Amino acid sequence: MHELSLSSAVVNTVVKHAKGRRVEVVSLRIGRLRQVVPDTLDFYFDFVARDTVCDGARLEYEIIEARLRCKPCAQEWGIEIPAFRCPTCGGSDVEVASGDEFEVESIEVEEAECIAPR
Ligand SMILES: [Zn+2]
Repeated sequence: MHELSLSSAVVNTVVKHAKGRRVEVVSLRIGRLRQVVPDTLDFYFDFVARDTVCDGARLEYEIIEARLRCKPCAQEWGIEIPAFRCPTCGGSDVEVASGDEFEVESIEVEEAECIAPR
């Protein structure tokens, strides 16, 4: 049901910014760590979007690779490296630098206008 609540969040955001105009494309930026399954999100989006300006809109996905950052030395690296340790200083006081995004990047409405909600 993860994708259902995400779909609701997307529709709410887009409806707010579309101001009554029909939406054709919603571009999303989703971090790898969110473990979103696009097909499942599409399915719930179609359902949640019914009878809103998003009805019939298409979702486009940009998947953001997961990266970690070592807090003391600011080194960043991709999460494919199989350890949550900084490859530069060996420290383990690290934070997620990217990969947990879930953002509406832009929406396209019927006048072929592009709106960035941020
Ligand atoms: Zn470090």
